[in-house]
Amino acid sequence: MEKRAEKKRIVLVPLPLQGHITPMMQLGQALNSKGFSITVFLGEFNRVSSSKHFPGFQFITIPEILPVAEVEAIGPVEFLIKLNKTSEANFKDCVSQMLIQQGNDIACIIYDDLMYFCGAAANEFKIPSIIFCTTSATHKVCNYVLSKLNAEKFLIDMEDPDLQNKVVENLHPVSFKDLPIGGFEPLERFLVLCREIITKRSACGAIINTVSCLESSSLTLLQQEFGIPVYPLGPLHITAKETSSLLEEDRSCIEWLNKQKPRSVIYISMGSIFDIETKEVLEMANGLCDSNQPFLWVIRPGSKPLPEEVSKMVSEKGFIVKWAPQNAHPAVGGFWSHCGWNSTLESIAEGVPMICRPFNGEQKLNALYIESVWRIGILLQGEVERGGVERAVKRLIMDEEGASMRERALVLKEKFNYSVRSGGSSYNALNELVNYLETEGKDAKTSGSNY
Ligand code: UDP
Repeated sequence: MEKRAEKKRIVLVPLPLQGHITPMMQLGQALNSKGFSITVFLGEFNRVSSSKHFPGFQFITIPEILPVAEVEAIGPVEFLIKLNKTSEANFKDCVSQMLIQQGNDIACIIYDDLMYFCGAAANEFKIPSIIFCTTSATHKVCNYVLSKLNAEKFLIDMEDPDLQNKVVENLHPVSFKDLPIGGFEPLERFLVLCREIITKRSACGAIINTVSCLESSSLTLLQQEFGIPVYPLGPLHITAKETSSLLEEDRSCIEWLNKQKPRSVIYISMGSIFDIETKEVLEMANGLCDSNQPFLWVIRPGSKPLPEEVSKMVSEKGFIVKWAPQNAHPAVGGFWSHCGWNSTLESIAEGVPMICRPFNGEQKLNALYIESVWRIGILLQGEVERGGVERAVKRLIMDEEGASMRERALVLKEKFNYSVRSGGSSYNALNELVNYLETEGKDAKTSGSNY
């Protein structure tokens, strides 16, 4: 097949949030290692402190992109709808400028599937495009199911406990009440977004940061629904050399971790967006201290300040950090997490079992899989109180139950490592993608399927 040696540039368009930029930059590194030049389009407000870490990458700013701070004012659903509406023309101008200045050396535009405005530019300039999904395959299938629902009828149906607990076809153990809608209210507008994601974008393929061994049946469903090639080439962080934090990493915790016993520390992080209520912080701090296990707690700048009594108690038994470096450490024995998809993959990749405290629908779905499918974690539901925290920590770190979870997590860790090695599923998926970009992309329909 003819090689497209002259088209070796990949344009990447991440959603401007940490949890989406990180895997996109990891994907960029994977493709860069295969000989592609990388151009990343970001908003003005989302500087990855990056150029220095990514010397081969070009960074271009999409002007006047909706600032992420707008999420606070209008909520995530309206933010995404508005972002897509207002960015289409600016992005087209950016790509047009790039084509004039650099010539058309673009093999493909790879965009976060939530940045579906990119599809219009890809179509106009006849550049192949591929979407990148940074959440689980199961989450994507659920969104597909949601896109077909009528909001009003669904809300009425959900008053019936039998319907709430009905398993979604082919998606055991996900029942209708588990569909990831929490945090994306109102439902009617969220379903509009789910439909826009499907109808407005066009792509010749879908890359997904997951591993076949975790979600093989969801991947099969996704492939059927999408009708385009799906490349599960995660977990991308295993092979990436550089991290891409928007916040500065505080390495002071490494020295503290070095002093702790192997697999004794609970690492607590709620990701890059969510914040815990002060009442819950108080119960967590007390429970953690009562458990007598050492803990490392990420309290991001801008989070609600810790009450003074908590700061004092915590600093005696634990260590607080503003933003932790993402290096694995042998002292970490358990991960208290909000179950964002990156955190989930990172924890499994280290063979570390989890205490799950999800906030929104997507995280709850991940937690369901962590607890009931992969059986590598404990889900904390309802109101958190100190006794429950203490018990959860002890179950995870000291009990037989936690040891079994760790064993299963370690098996998955091995499978992850195998998947990215020569002949493994993610390794093969990456090579298939590269092959597509170098050869078949040449003749691909730029409009792909509007799955
Ligand atoms: N993270 C980090 N340092 C911290 C806390 C979190 O680097 O102190 C990273 C974490 O490793 C993950 C990302 O932030 O890669 C969070 O992404 P995730 O999808 O888990 O959650 P989100 O932030 O999107 O809710």
